[in-house]
Amino acid sequence: MGGGPAGMMAGYLLARAGVPVLVLEKHADFNRDFRGDTIHPSTLELMYELGLLDEFLKLPHQELRELRAVVNGQIVPAADFTKLPTHCKFIAFMPQWDFLNFLSRHAKRFPAFQLYMEAEAVDLLMENSRVVGVRAKTPRGGLDIHADLVIGADGRHSTVHTRAGLELREFGVPIDVLWMRISKKEGDPKQTLGFFQHGKLLVLLDRDDYWQCGFVIPKGQFEDIKARGLTQFQNDIASFAGFLPDRVAELNDWSKIKLLTVQVNRLRDWCCEGLLCIGDSAHAMSPAGGVGINLAIQDAVATANLLAEKLQHGPVHLDDLRTVQARREWPTRLIQGMQIFIHRRVVTGRRSGGKQTSLPFVLRLMKWFPILRQLPARFIGLGPRPEHVRSPTAN
Ligand SMILES: Cc1cc2nc3c(=O)[nH]c(=O)nc-3n(C[C@H](O)[C@H](O)[C@H](O)COP(=O)(O)OP(=O)(O)OC[C@H]3O[C@@H](n4cnc5c(N)ncnc54)[C@H](O)[C@@H]3O)c2cc1C
Repeated sequence: MGGGPAGMMAGYLLARAGVPVLVLEKHADFNRDFRGDTIHPSTLELMYELGLLDEFLKLPHQELRELRAVVNGQIVPAADFTKLPTHCKFIAFMPQWDFLNFLSRHAKRFPAFQLYMEAEAVDLLMENSRVVGVRAKTPRGGLDIHADLVIGADGRHSTVHTRAGLELREFGVPIDVLWMRISKKEGDPKQTLGFFQHGKLLVLLDRDDYWQCGFVIPKGQFEDIKARGLTQFQNDIASFAGFLPDRVAELNDWSKIKLLTVQVNRLRDWCCEGLLCIGDSAHAMSPAGGVGINLAIQDAVATANLLAEKLQHGPVHLDDLRTVQARREWPTRLIQGMQIFIHRRVVTGRRSGGKQTSLPFVLRLMKWFPILRQLPARFIGLGPRPEHVRSPTAN
């Protein structure tokens, strides 16, 4: 349920194992702006294991081998992916709709796979306290779908976990993101960039003919920013990089600037009889570190590894579903803990002392000792407990 990274990868792998799968996606296509663009080395390794890597890399993308940040005007190498033990030693930047279209195109080769677009799950079907399917809204009317297992992969505003009454723990997040486009010009830098400046952060994602910009703001301050006026906002954005001032006038209407609220939360139980939540539906991720897509995919792989064979023979028990949570919960806790740390110490700039132009101590160490850049590379590029494809293929 849900045609994001978690749902599409779980659907692909289960159908590959011959388990009949129906993925419901509420939108008519995958072309939404506010999705991350990062495909990590661990996800690329999965593509290799599935025999899809060569074709995948033919899609337009950029390869980021070293992560650099511009902190208070100084360029800092922050992560070096070139030493990772994977076939691809880089993060691929690719619009997420290309990634999802690619996965769905390949999943459709399996007779067991079906994808319904514009099908929104609105409720769960219950029988004797067990989830036995979903009720969906489609342009052709309502639809009841019965299933041995419902996988909630419907993202951070999950209908599924809400309807199932699963308990959600929220971890306060002090930031939101403003999302907007600025045109590109000849001579602009050639790659995705992150600019830290006095506790503020602007990320520019290279989308070929335009920059997709994410501006991190303190939570709840969008109205204050609006009250200060568009000119002040344009000046704020322009101050991040020399090539921006002649283009910020494009941001001439607040309707061009979307507010994306950031959440970090986690379900206490990711499952109940007949239902398993994975990806952001089980644990909403912040954009910090750009690892949410990877984690969602890792959940999907673990789900197929642990459940595909059993699902070939019918419904699975609650204890089977709990093995997925048991496997994926601590990597999730670790990453969410890191994101909360980043929000508090890096993005909101609550550091002690230091000149405004100086680099934080950790970043200075990374500048001096290149080997240290391999640690964030492992954490971001592979994540804790990377999964490998172990689920079977259909006979
Ligand atoms: C502003 C922002 C930027 C981010 N940038 C990055 C980044 O650069 N890199 C990164 O790795 N992570 C990033 N993240 C985190 C990342 O987006 C998520 O962790 C990741 O998308 C989770 O994948 P998912 O498949 O679990 O959920 P989603 O990607 O949210 O997919 C859920 C899917 O389910 C569909 N759906 C929802 N409800 C229903 C329903 N009722 N019925 C049917 N379908 C439904 C949705 O349309 C969607 O297609 C960012 C997050 C935010 C907020």
